[in-house]
Amino acid sequence: MPAYEAVIGLEVHAQLLTSSKLFCSCPVRFGDEPNENICEVCAGMPGALPRLNKKAVELAAKAGLALQCTVNPMSLFSRKNYFYPDLPAGFQTSQLTPPICEHGHLDVTVQDATRRIGITRIHLEDDAGKCVHGQGATLIDLNRAGTGLIEIVSEPDIRSAEEAAAYMRAIHAILVCIGATDGNMEEGSLRCDANVSIRPKGSTTLGTRTEIKNLNSFRNIQRAVEFEIRRQEGCLEDGESIVQETRLFDAVKQVTVSMRSKEDAHDYRYFPNPDLPPVLVLAEELQAWEAELPELPEARKLRFIQRLGLNEEEAAALTAERATADFFEQALALCSNAKRVAQLMAAEFLRECAQQNIAPAQAAFGAAHVAELATLIDEGIISARIAHDIFPELFASGAMPRAFVTEKGLVQVSDSSELEGVVAEVLAENPAEVEGYRGGKTKLLSFFVGQVMRKTKGKANPALVNSLLEESLGKH
Ligand code: ADP
Ligand code: MG
Ligand code: ZN
Repeated sequence: MPAYEAVIGLEVHAQLLTSSKLFCSCPVRFGDEPNENICEVCAGMPGALPRLNKKAVELAAKAGLALQCTVNPMSLFSRKNYFYPDLPAGFQTSQLTPPICEHGHLDVTVQDATRRIGITRIHLEDDAGKCVHGQGATLIDLNRAGTGLIEIVSEPDIRSAEEAAAYMRAIHAILVCIGATDGNMEEGSLRCDANVSIRPKGSTTLGTRTEIKNLNSFRNIQRAVEFEIRRQEGCLEDGESIVQETRLFDAVKQVTVSMRSKEDAHDYRYFPNPDLPPVLVLAEELQAWEAELPELPEARKLRFIQRLGLNEEEAAALTAERATADFFEQALALCSNAKRVAQLMAAEFLRECAQQNIAPAQAAFGAAHVAELATLIDEGIISARIAHDIFPELFASGAMPRAFVTEKGLVQVSDSSELEGVVAEVLAENPAEVEGYRGGKTKLLSFFVGQVMRKTKGKANPALVNSLLEESLGKH
């Protein structure tokens, strides 16, 4: 049986964070009454004239810069013709050649291996409306029609489902960081189509691909691609061939199902849109946009590792979202022990945010809380273990940590006379271990520390316990 290699290319659609649509001044807003935000242009009336939204061009160009693309000084809009009930004009206004950006790349790290994924192109296009199915009828809501999108097309450089999800996470982090999209995948602001094929390991030609449409979470991307790779392997092993087709992912059954066969048969009859002049990006304009770009997630991660001494895992967790990294730096302004703040955030704060499904910026537990908790540990007022134990309650209540631990009597015992008694008790109760330690098994120290911690319900100052134990055990 030959070993197969997966080949994956992603087409990512991101809704641009502009206040109005791509070719008209209708507002871009999610959740309004159907057909409230439409006009002749976005409703596709014949003869209505589009006017390009300059902010959309800026955001597309910034996305290109952040993804190491060339931003073309001139690009063109074309009409991509097809019929769909939620596309009243009968064509999508998109870019074929030249697109606004091309020839970029993005480095993606999975399990310590970094691979460079090529970005073929980024183009501007308008979104379609929505069909609302139900109650014996299908209704059309055009509120979304005409919303500005960028489509980011990757080279078929991705080699695993995990890498596909990591690529999408990196794109998400970058686009949100530069303010190109709100990144809300549940509302469809960011979604992707995954093209998947397999080939015998070592082969350099591409196999026949299938395209899984409209994946709207990192998890679904990973699951859908995993399933599709296994399905294709199964086909080849059974002597069947892969049919080029469009598939959908059923997140409940965790399978992909055939939607329609396609693709080379497709002819969109692209032609230059006669209503829109070429899109020009001037060199000065591009320079100004480049200067406005914030520090990107990858650069920020490196800075956290190199300047603040965080490890890869902590830095990655803290820079996955710009808001989290901002939060971390706000806490750092109040407590300079970066490592301690990072550990608390990565191990406690982000875990709790994920569990409660709360965005870091929305938590009642803010940067000042994290900083104060870190300071309490630094000052030896509480141990890291106590901090861990009380974290869920602090997080939920938003209480200030210093007041909380004082009120609850959790302040660490740093009084040696008090701890000496406990140490003596522990040694008296464990004569065999004491003998072992004195005989050279110095690793038993942590056993004694554990016993003292247990008796003091975690409130003993660990550094003090260590030194008291060493002192007592050293005495013969
Ligand atoms: P379309 O899907 O609109 O026909 P393309 O032919 O440009 O557009 O391909 C779209 C995506 O499919 C790109 O991301 C590309 O990398 C990827 N792709 C193309 N061929 C393959 C293949 N054989 N296996 C996996 N991905 C592929
Ligand atoms: Mg496609
Ligand atoms: Zn409109």
